[in-house]
Amino acid sequence: MARRDSATRVLPEEINALRDPVREAVAGVTAKFSREDWLAATRDGRFPTEAWDLMARQGLLGLGVPEEFGGSGGGLTEEVAAMEAMAEAGVPLVLFLLTVFARTPILLHGTPEQRQRFVAPTADGGSSLCFAITEPDAGTNSFAISTTAVPDGSGGYLLNGQKIFISGVDAADRMMVVARSTRLADAPDRRHGFSLLVLDVNSPGVSFTPLDMGLVMPDRQFTVHFDNVQVPAENIIGAPDDGFRYLFDALNPERMLAAAWALGLGDYALNKAVRYARDRSPFGKPIGAYQAIQHPLAQARTRLDAARLMMYTATRQFDAGMDAAYAANAAKLLASQAAVEACDAAIQTHGGYAFTDEYDVSAIWGVTRLIKVVPVNNEVVLNHIGEHVLGLPRS
Ligand SMILES: Cc1cc2nc3c(=O)[nH]c(=O)nc-3n(C[C@H](O)[C@H](O)[C@H](O)COP(=O)(O)OP(=O)(O)OC[C@H]3O[C@@H](n4cnc5c(N)ncnc54)[C@H](O)[C@@H]3O)c2cc1C
Repeated sequence: MARRDSATRVLPEEINALRDPVREAVAGVTAKFSREDWLAATRDGRFPTEAWDLMARQGLLGLGVPEEFGGSGGGLTEEVAAMEAMAEAGVPLVLFLLTVFARTPILLHGTPEQRQRFVAPTADGGSSLCFAITEPDAGTNSFAISTTAVPDGSGGYLLNGQKIFISGVDAADRMMVVARSTRLADAPDRRHGFSLLVLDVNSPGVSFTPLDMGLVMPDRQFTVHFDNVQVPAENIIGAPDDGFRYLFDALNPERMLAAAWALGLGDYALNKAVRYARDRSPFGKPIGAYQAIQHPLAQARTRLDAARLMMYTATRQFDAGMDAAYAANAAKLLASQAAVEACDAAIQTHGGYAFTDEYDVSAIWGVTRLIKVVPVNNEVVLNHIGEHVLGLPRS
């Protein structure tokens, strides 16, 4: 019998049945697009469109999109499996996470015409989506954003404001923007008065500038300015002013996709470390025989797999239409922690070589560590669990 990896051994068979074909399709991508290619694109400061095209050809971009909109059906479980497998191969694309995340509220709350216009082209790679909510002064407190979308008098909206840390603007075709459409003073509560708009990244009045981030990944971050950008009414998702309600439906998927990103990277680092520990023998026998090296790696293995179980519990709940909030938050928290530990163990195992470009271990650290902060910081995740699971007062 073929040797099964630890993840396959602990995941329920119904998850393996969905996950295995996705992993095979990702193998079709990574056979032609390697970590070296991913690093080369990063060095060149460009998004690797060739990887995106390969994902499209393997049918990965249509996962989770209903067949009537050109997708291959399935659900979040398959989308998460794709994110996980790409990261495990060392070639995660944040644009995939963003496109899947941003199309979720459109699929759930958009009109059939909007789904056809905005979602269908993403299923074959013809279009991609980035997402813009964060602002310099609001940060985690999204309710405090000040970008406005006000009626332009002819049925559309005028968008003005500034966003920061927006990933993939250079690579995406469209951007989903969260903007205030009713002043806070006139809103019945703090969640009301925001709208979700979709616009072409190159619309007149949109400008963006890359940020120097010091992260090793090809998806770059930008500040984005909106200067009297005209947005037609038919580009507003759902009812104006109700945007946050729609957005909340996509936050749990985003957490699961972030968990997949972290777990894949954790696996990538751990697998590298195990290979290295089998060979490296400065004292004549492999360092993997020393328990000071072996135990952190074994610990990392179990923590990654435990977080993975939580992640796929969350995806199954979401795909079954159940409330997945607790499992999604727990998965994001546990996965980001497990991945950082795995990466740390991988660095220690590699010793000085971890910091060489040739061995390419320390570069994983920054991105893995990032996932404790994005797309939402772990403190907010813990706030959610404290308040909604433990029933403690809001902080
Ligand atoms: C690489 C990268 C990519 C990103 N991509 C995107 C993107 O594509 N689109 C987008 O809109 N945004 C994006 N972001 C923004 C990201 O979501 C924010 O950085 C993040 O939500 C936190 O905002 P902030 O950086 O302003 O931190 P702040 O709000 O200033 O928070 C700083 C720290 O304070 C603590 N803290 C904050 N609030 C609370 C709280 N309520 N309870 C307890 N502790 C708290 C946390 O430890 C937090 O890390 C990206 C950021 C990075 C770094």
